[in-house]
Amino acid sequence: MTYSQFHRYRHTQSLRDLFQEKTLTVNDVILPIFIHESLTQKKEIASLPGMFQWSLADLSDEIKSAVDLGIKAVILFGIPSKKDDIGSEADNPNGIIQKAITLIKSIAPHLVVIADTCLCEYTSHGHCGIQKDGHLDNPKTLTRLASIAVSYANAGADMIAPSGMMDGMVLAIREALDHHHYHRVSIMSYSVKYASGLYGPFRDAAGSGDNFKGNRNHHQMNITQSREAILEAEADIQEGADIIMVKPAGTYLDIICKLRDRFNHPIAAYQVSGEYSMLKAAVKAGILDEEKAMIESLAAIKRAGADLIITYYAKQLAKYLSPTLQT
Ligand SMILES: [Zn+2]
Repeated sequence: MTYSQFHRYRHTQSLRDLFQEKTLTVNDVILPIFIHESLTQKKEIASLPGMFQWSLADLSDEIKSAVDLGIKAVILFGIPSKKDDIGSEADNPNGIIQKAITLIKSIAPHLVVIADTCLCEYTSHGHCGIQKDGHLDNPKTLTRLASIAVSYANAGADMIAPSGMMDGMVLAIREALDHHHYHRVSIMSYSVKYASGLYGPFRDAAGSGDNFKGNRNHHQMNITQSREAILEAEADIQEGADIIMVKPAGTYLDIICKLRDRFNHPIAAYQVSGEYSMLKAAVKAGILDEEKAMIESLAAIKRAGADLIITYYAKQLAKYLSPTLQT
């Protein structure tokens, strides 16, 4: 007997292509977009290099560029000009996200528009839910989330993505959508969202950290939990989630893998701001090759079992895959 010859699978590029188990495509990624109601022109987000807060006036540039690159879906985050205790602007029919959805659908009707649905960008206190005596009022928050989801569906959203880890949020939103005959609007639930330390740059981008005091440990998952992830995903599926999500992605590949083995629903994973910004910082410092690091980070998420990846690298990946596109 001789030793195994694994090099037979990989000693030429053609062989490597032939035996490749997973292939990243532009269909795998969802582009996050931040839209700021008070801006008159786009503004770069310092902690998230290459990403911008968009004004409504120049949002169409970003949408056209994404469509030209072949991107199929965007997820929207709004930053309102006014905030209050209950996040009234979130379901204002003339709110920033409602206007953005209408605009996007008018210029790119086939682009899948996903509306992130939470209160933290809209409340003056920055919490993800309605507060009562210093605590989260879960039932009142569900009523608000249901109303916001219907408002986004009215504007033309294809998918609602509740991100606040409220108990019962999927059921409340599904019932409200069905009640308003939005049977075709789907729900991508942030089912397994950890109380991670990797969200810092996002809070700059979404303005959800401005006046925030406290923490989100009361509703987001403890970073050490694994079995609880299954319970959370199971509950969301029972409540009517069409897609379950794990967030963050890179530090929770074991969780993606576990859910993949257990459930047949599509799984999304969010490569969060901290994951992206760490890579960008290492590239800037000359420590990493950006293309290799980007591909490896995304391929790992897909290999673990994710069908969809929300990533700030969406456009960069699309350009890498189709170098002739110069948008
Ligand atoms: Zn939130």
